[in-house]
Amino acid sequence: MTKTAIKQGEKIELEDEHYGKKPTQEDLLKHYANRDPRRFIQFDCFCNVEPGDPIIVPDNDGDSEFILETYELMSGEPTVRILILPGTTKKDAIRVLRKTAARIVSEEIELQVNSVQVNMPCGICGNRCNDNDLDFFTKDNGNQVCGQCALIYAPDLVVQQKQIESQADHAARGSPEDKQLGVYWAYLHDWVEKQKEMKLP
Ligand SMILES: [Zn+2]
Repeated sequence: MTKTAIKQGEKIELEDEHYGKKPTQEDLLKHYANRDPRRFIQFDCFCNVEPGDPIIVPDNDGDSEFILETYELMSGEPTVRILILPGTTKKDAIRVLRKTAARIVSEEIELQVNSVQVNMPCGICGNRCNDNDLDFFTKDNGNQVCGQCALIYAPDLVVQQKQIESQADHAARGSPEDKQLGVYWAYLHDWVEKQKEMKLP
């Protein structure tokens, strides 16, 4: 299998040694002839789209995204396969990949009380998280998610985080110098528990 390498330049290309001989149509048809069609979820994105087309409608970044079902005969059994047109700028590719990830992960992030506070690496981008008392975590494996990624993937939760921390702060203050930490943390814990109960079917 050919291994992909991404050069440090602005555009995504393959290193020369990873280019093989371009197959003919006949070669490909022969290669795929005995394979069973497999169903995939396909994420497509057109970048730098000019407005005007009724179907390929650009968003504010000039991207037009589509999710569709497709049947393919490609070789290999990867769980996720990403195809990028050589010559695509890294900037375009990264923006589109983020949007695709956002579609997948936006429902998978929740707020939790963060009592550990050790600047864990973000489960999405790998950068160190700036800890808050209420923080973002992935539901499936409990990895912390940094504020930047939360802004991209779950902006509503970022608003909620600030609101709840502020409410807890308010509930815990007898006077400005006298914050009752027990009341503060209990407020956050209660809120998280109530959220969980509300999400039950
Ligand atoms: Zn992150």
